[in-house]
Amino acid sequence: MDTLTPQDCSKRMARVRGKDTKPELTVRRVVHRLGYRYRLHGKELPGKPDLVFRSRRKVIFVHGCFWHRHEGCPLARLPKSRQDFWVPKLEGNRLRDARLQEEIMADGWRVLVVWECELKDREALARRLEAYLGPRKWRGRDEGG
Ligand SMILES: [Zn+2]
Repeated sequence: MDTLTPQDCSKRMARVRGKDTKPELTVRRVVHRLGYRYRLHGKELPGKPDLVFRSRRKVIFVHGCFWHRHEGCPLARLPKSRQDFWVPKLEGNRLRDARLQEEIMADGWRVLVVWECELKDREALARRLEAYLGPRKWRGRDEGG
């Protein structure tokens, strides 16, 4: 994972640009199995969070470590070539993420970011999601889907 060939990059790009990326599907599956209801891609919210828990006023973003610059993460390591291209691009992603999350929180929402590298330990992920989302029984209206 130290360096990426152009093929790796475009594969990654394709995967990340698509709406239903694999890390996102994994998180959706775990959340669903835990018994929570959510909506997908809250279009009315800044950055279109991947999972929206409207009545709880909570959202989850699922971030690829490389594209969203997971700090200190081995998956976020930059390719050795063309750093003049990657550094500003990825730093731009990171700054945009921070800004969007601030906008959402300013509206009274809470934000959880789940990183791609955190999906390996499903049990730990499930515990973290439960701790974030709180009790399953919720008096708010059904969130559907
Ligand atoms: Zn990571």
